Amino acid sequence: MHIDMNSFFATCEVFKNPLLKNAPIAVVPHLKGNPVILASSYPAKYCGVKTGMRYSQAKKLCPSLQIFLSDPKFYRNISSKIMIVFKKFTPNVIPKSIDEATLDFTNVSIKQNNLEKVAFDIKKILKERVGDCFTCSIGVANSPFLAKVASNKHKPDGFYYLNPKSLLNFYSGLKLSDLHGVGKKTESKLNSLGIFTPIDFYNASLQFLQFHFKTHGYYWYLRLRGYSIDNLTIPKKSLGHSYHLRYFSNNLNYLKGIILKLSQKIGFRLRRHLLCAKTFYIYLKFVDGTKWTCRYTFTFYTNLDFEIYKNFIYIFNKNPYKNKKVKILLLSASSLSLNAYHKQKTLFGLDKKNQSFYKILDSINNKYGLFTLMPAKLLNYKNIATDRISFGR
Ligand SMILES: [Mg+2]
Repeated sequence: MHIDMNSFFATCEVFKNPLLKNAPIAVVPHLKGNPVILASSYPAKYCGVKTGMRYSQAKKLCPSLQIFLSDPKFYRNISSKIMIVFKKFTPNVIPKSIDEATLDFTNVSIKQNNLEKVAFDIKKILKERVGDCFTCSIGVANSPFLAKVASNKHKPDGFYYLNPKSLLNFYSGLKLSDLHGVGKKTESKLNSLGIFTPIDFYNASLQFLQFHFKTHGYYWYLRLRGYSIDNLTIPKKSLGHSYHLRYFSNNLNYLKGIILKLSQKIGFRLRRHLLCAKTFYIYLKFVDGTKWTCRYTFTFYTNLDFEIYKNFIYIFNKNPYKNKKVKILLLSASSLSLNAYHKQKTLFGLDKKNQSFYKILDSINNKYGLFTLMPAKLLNYKNIATDRISFGR
């Protein structure tokens, strides 16, 4: 959920002096000469007054315009009251600026279709606890980017729920410049490539976007499809786990169980970062101090636990020292690619089924802790390589 307060600075001035309600007013950084307009109220906006405009021009468009000196301390004070209201609904409030925030409801027990009710509750409580004059525009979508774009759909005091199924319909009502992050420069480059609308942008192939915009093209491709890529810290180079055996062992079945468990961890983390891997590496340290390592790059990218496990077992079977007792086992995945779902092996149409299966698996394990749901074989491995990934923020 993205929340954007309407005409925030100007509304703060109305809060100080309620007689200004419905008056065309603007906030400026200083009162000398011909200052720039920082913010304006809706009555002023209706006359054509815009942020960044000079006072003299604004006054021509709107002769009754009154200007007020910016009061950052007061605005910040109101802003923190607003953020406190947001935090009553979810602990995950990410302030984006003094008057905007993204509220993440992942893992908060609210049904998706009830977010509309939450949005209207927030609007109501802002009026009660902060001030009657404060209104906001709220967008709900399945990524922070889309929620922000949706929040701009209706202003002031708007609400827009973007159904992921009607993404194209949503884009059809927008201009390229409505997409947060598309500035003048990007827009003219897109135009020169024959892309004039968000629909054109959406329909552009991944290869085309990557060719012209490199990694950013890839990000746009994902962003436009609703992936939450903007909160991720990527790219990582590799991702792995090691395990020091409490009881040194050369029992292959037992060792394979540990590999299965570590594979689950690696798969979970890959999917969490929207990554896939195709190079896998095993390091074994034996009781006698010697070691064996092997790295292998497979044809296909994956982030599915059972495929990761199969890949590790393929490598593990190459270990020539089957009799030596293992002391340390380290597994890692590399050649990472951001959400390379398109590069994944499609097994007789199982791919879609797998993806929805892992989505459910991950949401349960994310909420209740890794290994809440796990392969039955791991029941005997409860105290081995336990969950050390921290959850939540
Ligand atoms: Mg605003």
